[in-house]
Amino acid sequence: MNIEQMKRVLDKIKEYQSIIVFRHKRPDGDAVGSSKGLCEILRLSYPDKEIRLLNSDYSDYVAFLGGEDAPVEDEVYARSLGIVLDTATTDRISNTRFSLCREIVRIDHHIDVKPYGDVVWVEPERSSTCEMVVAFWDAFRTELKINREAATYLYTGMVTDSGRFRFRSVSGDTMRYAGMLLDEGVDADRIYSQLYTKELNVLHFQGYMYGKIKRTENGVAYLYVSRRLQKRFGLSHEDAGAAVSYMDSIRGSLIWAAFIECKDGSIRVRLRSRFVTVNTLAEKYHGGGHDCACGATVYSKKEVKRLLADADARLKEYKENNEGWL
Ligand code: AMP
Repeated sequence: MNIEQMKRVLDKIKEYQSIIVFRHKRPDGDAVGSSKGLCEILRLSYPDKEIRLLNSDYSDYVAFLGGEDAPVEDEVYARSLGIVLDTATTDRISNTRFSLCREIVRIDHHIDVKPYGDVVWVEPERSSTCEMVVAFWDAFRTELKINREAATYLYTGMVTDSGRFRFRSVSGDTMRYAGMLLDEGVDADRIYSQLYTKELNVLHFQGYMYGKIKRTENGVAYLYVSRRLQKRFGLSHEDAGAAVSYMDSIRGSLIWAAFIECKDGSIRVRLRSRFVTVNTLAEKYHGGGHDCACGATVYSKKEVKRLLADADARLKEYKENNEGWL
């Protein structure tokens, strides 16, 4: 924990009357949870400040957490502190007007590839940005307030970004912070129900896709989700992207990838692994992210094949040099 950086973040927050909170595009539970959670904490703690959450795209998956604030004029941005959460690079920030802010604070658990921001607090070993926001509140409890609503946002992000508290990034701190949120009255049963229930068409898609999983020579599992398939099952882009999770428990397939055809003709890659580091692979294909959960974009089937060949070589090398993998 970097208390010095946390203190600098708090000092910056205190300096400003107006604060705008941002997060990454195609938001996941952590992006939405951390941004909404921090906003709520700041609203409770500083009722006289103007706190806004302003982003440009939304997520169906965590829509149950609620919406954001109404757009404001450029003039408001110009006098505001911008706080960007859970976003490794500026091109991934959902609201491009973030750059109009007078100063930027960045709070993130992604690996620092292209540093930005006036005050930066980055801890890549944290299981989620939500965990960092809880740590922030806990460190300054005498100053910052929390309630059940904020705790619910933050718990949701912690749960989703840690693979339900399963990933290696989960530490004793993670569980202690999650416990603190439960103490605030979080209804975990309700959150899990929101996360797990799905429409029947999506379940049919899932059943269909299990039969379509392919593997490379050394065991990289993959699925290709064409636009045609997305139309056939009536899927949103987010529903289609969920296909990556269908491959997360195949023995010997330590790397897996879902290729999702986008409206603009590009192909979104969702890349996952256990034990093996794959973010360097994503970086080679216009992407990035965490060691074992990252994303990229490719523009042709040829590039899909090339990425799979690279992933296959990576897995081969890993299997040859490591024992005890599953
Ligand atoms: P996703 O598969 O979209 O859930 O992404 C997994 C992780 O990789 C997230 O932390 C994203 O922020 C990151 N990521 C996804 N796509 C990209 C990209 N094109 N460039 C950089 N990071 C990405």
